[in-house]
Amino acid sequence: MPKIFIDPGHGGKDTGAVGNGLQEKDITLSIALEMQRILQDEYENVSVQLSRKSDTAVPLSQRAAKANRWGADVYLAIHVNAGGGTGYEDYIYEGLSDHSKTARIRDIIHEEVVRATGFRDRGKKKANFYVLRETAMPAVLTENGFVDREEDAEKLKDPAFLQTIARGHVNGLAKAFHLTKKSDANDLIRVIVDGKQIGVYEDKENVLKQVEYYLEKANKIEMERVKR
Ligand SMILES: [Zn+2]
Repeated sequence: MPKIFIDPGHGGKDTGAVGNGLQEKDITLSIALEMQRILQDEYENVSVQLSRKSDTAVPLSQRAAKANRWGADVYLAIHVNAGGGTGYEDYIYEGLSDHSKTARIRDIIHEEVVRATGFRDRGKKKANFYVLRETAMPAVLTENGFVDREEDAEKLKDPAFLQTIARGHVNGLAKAFHLTKKSDANDLIRVIVDGKQIGVYEDKENVLKQVEYYLEKANKIEMERVKR
């Protein structure tokens, strides 16, 4: 079962890049949480860990060490750019060849993120970044738009666009690691109570709400809030 380690860049006092009312640390966390959700909801046999799940400061050394201890199969660091420019680019460790396993994984993620987001393609790059160097597994760092560029910032303010960025990354991971979709991922859910259909839903949460409503109405269930 592939172990996927996702590292949302920055956190806590380390905001990362800021611009147009945006902070990099918030955007990277949203994308990472959404990636985890998609992977767990829609794919079989995949294990996901995050370097942070909230707005906390985690040193780079701890991030890399956590992935190494866990024995992750891939390390994916999510970042957002600043400094004048527009679009998407990604990095692998500078010591790696273009034919390395890491480069092959990066190529797939690169293609899928650019395809999903429509970001301008700034290219496939190499650098001596800490998390790329100190991780024991293939590691890729992506830079998703520029907070200080108005046209990118407008997109990054939209939660639906952050979901699209997450979706692009997941599409790449799914291809690179041959992940299988859960067979029920695209199905609707038909709810039948006492042999009678009470609704058809796309979202499991709506099913729960409807069942609660139905059972309450039929006096089959009672719910009330109680103090802890
Ligand atoms: Zn960053």
